[in-house]
Amino acid sequence: MDKPIRVRFAPSPTGMLHLGGVRTALYDYLMAKSTGGKFILRIEDTDQSRYVEGSVENLIESLQKLGIHFDEGPIIGGNYGPYFQSQRLDIYQGYVDELIKKGVAYHCFCSKEELDQMRQTQQENNLTTKYNGKCRSLTQEEIDKKISEGLPYVIRLKMPENRSFSIEDYIRGHVEIDSSLIDDQVILKTDKFPTYHLAAVIDDHLMEISHVLRGEEWLPSTPKHIFIYENLGWTPPIWVHLPLLLNVDRSKLSKRHGDFSVDNYLKMGYLKESIINFVALLGWHSADDRELYTLEELTKEFSLQRVNKAGAIFDITKLDWMNGMYMRSLDLGYIADEAEKYFLEKDFDLSDRTKYLKVIEDSRGRVSTLPQMTEHASHYYIDLVISEEDQLILVKESSKAVLNWYLNLLTQNESLTKEQTAEAVKKGMVELAIKGKDYYAPIRIALFGSAHGPDIPTLIDVLGFELTIDRLKKALAL
Ligand code: GLU
Repeated sequence: MDKPIRVRFAPSPTGMLHLGGVRTALYDYLMAKSTGGKFILRIEDTDQSRYVEGSVENLIESLQKLGIHFDEGPIIGGNYGPYFQSQRLDIYQGYVDELIKKGVAYHCFCSKEELDQMRQTQQENNLTTKYNGKCRSLTQEEIDKKISEGLPYVIRLKMPENRSFSIEDYIRGHVEIDSSLIDDQVILKTDKFPTYHLAAVIDDHLMEISHVLRGEEWLPSTPKHIFIYENLGWTPPIWVHLPLLLNVDRSKLSKRHGDFSVDNYLKMGYLKESIINFVALLGWHSADDRELYTLEELTKEFSLQRVNKAGAIFDITKLDWMNGMYMRSLDLGYIADEAEKYFLEKDFDLSDRTKYLKVIEDSRGRVSTLPQMTEHASHYYIDLVISEEDQLILVKESSKAVLNWYLNLLTQNESLTKEQTAEAVKKGMVELAIKGKDYYAPIRIALFGSAHGPDIPTLIDVLGFELTIDRLKKALAL
């Protein structure tokens, strides 16, 4: 019988959760959800020097905000904890001893200066930079002596020479990597913390991870991991190396290119729905190339079989398009709630919820992010500033006739439905015998501060009776 599906997202707490990490987490989540498996969050905090304060909280909160919930992990626990690697140090030590005993790992006492020198010489001679194996053959007496002298040491893997490692990757298929390219990886540091390579292998095994989904940049390290599995007598998981993320110009996406944190995208006014949808398509596509998917739909449609080998292009214009689509199609009240903080930042008076909802309804189809709506909406909330050019239009006789006609209409009919206003708009044109621009521009300028904008019934409906009359009067007073 196949083993149950257990997948893990294993970020290092070295900063905010970025969209690349979200993709791994999302694919893990979707895989678990679509197969009835389990999704585990494991914090890989063994490199104390790279630890960034607050990043664990940010990772967890970001996943929560996006709706990517894990089944086991920090806070919620589970049967395979602890889920922080820094709390599992004694577990690793036993396996390090076992690898040393087997002769596939060794003490290395080389100092930083020696290693720097080694690297420099190799670079000068155009050689692959890697550990030269100096401490590989120390005798037990030599090792004991150095330890008793208090010399610091690390433990390295003794990678076999002249061996080709075969990797069966779920996405990339069969990959061979020659051991001559592989360093004698440090697996335990002087501070007695394991490195990623050791800790991840041990935890993936002990946590019964069935598939390891991770970025393609880890593929070259996989032989080290396979070597550890072999020597501990364990079966490796299924390797699933996800395609690199590329800029539109196909260069590798990196932090240097911008702030790709979830927080930043949420702050910029992208909805979680579009972030999830966008990230899902970074490397995966459905058979019919459909573009829009809710998280729920993804759990039904997603499959690892349809993840590409080729690098995935990170095209922000696509995210803009998706966000625009979601802003238009999701529940109006939800969009209004999500947008509220941007409107409050502008000091708009949102006390009239009905008006606010109408403003959102009129604004959401015009832009691609939440805060961009405030520009259009400002015409409904702040006193109009009418340009000189537009003022010249308003003072024309025909314009005054139009404005007066509307003023009359509204003082006589305090509550017009949008349909009734639409009828009246047609009627006014006939009665005044003014057409086209001469008819529409003045009323739009008076009510919206611009000759271009929403249709007249929408303007009157959103502004409401009082403000409409007020604006008409102001325009007539010019
Ligand atoms: N801790 C590693 C990282 O943050 C995880 C790689 C893996 O998933 O194995 O990149």
